[in-house]
Amino acid sequence: MSRPVIAIDVDDVLAGANQAMMHYINEHFGANHTWEDYTVAGPYNRYWEKVVWQTDSEEGAKRYNAFINDGTQRRMPVIQDALEVIGYLKKHYELVIITGREQEYMDDTHHWLQKHFPKTFQGIHFMPYKEDGVNKVHKAVVASELGVQYLIDDAVEHCIPAAAAGIKCLLFGDYGWNKDAELTEGITRVKDWKAVQKYFEKAAQ
Ligand SMILES: [Mg+2]
Repeated sequence: MSRPVIAIDVDDVLAGANQAMMHYINEHFGANHTWEDYTVAGPYNRYWEKVVWQTDSEEGAKRYNAFINDGTQRRMPVIQDALEVIGYLKKHYELVIITGREQEYMDDTHHWLQKHFPKTFQGIHFMPYKEDGVNKVHKAVVASELGVQYLIDDAVEHCIPAAAAGIKCLLFGDYGWNKDAELTEGITRVKDWKAVQKYFEKAAQ
C-alpha cells in the first residue's frame, strides 16, 4: 500500500521568512522592530506592509522587492525543529512541497530545499499564478490533484478550502496572520514542529 502524502508549505513552516524579513528591514531600512511587532494580529494579505510597517503600497513594494532581490530567499533560516521532525515524517509518509511562491522564485526555492532537506520531497509544486500577492488557485486544488491527505500550512486561507476538500490540515505556528483565525472542521492548530510530531504520532496509534 502506498504511504499517505503530506503536503508542506515553505515560507514560515520550513523557512523563517517572517524572521528573515524582520532582520532584513531592521538592517537595511533603519527599523527597530521586534518579534512581537512581527506577530501582531492582522490580516494575511500584505501583512508586513499593512500591519508591521504601516506604509503605503509603494514603500511596501520597495521593501519587499529589496528583500527578494537581495537573494534573501536563499539564506532563510530553517524553522526550529523542522529538520528533526521532517526526518521522522519521511520514514512514514510521502512528503511533497506546495508553495504559494511565484514560479520566478523556483531556482532559489529549489536551492534552499536542496541545501537543507536533500532527498526529502517527492515533488516541489508552485502555484499557477498570483494577483496582487494573492494566490488565485488555492492549494486545495493542487493538493487534491496530488492525492494529498495532509496539509501543513501557516495560512488559514489555504487550510479552509483544503479542509473542505477532505484534506486534514495543520495550521502551523503562532503568527500574526493566523492567531485570530476561526478554524473550520478538519483544521488543527500546531504551534511548532514538536506539535506536528505529536499529531502524527497520535495519528499512527
Ligand atoms: Mg507560508
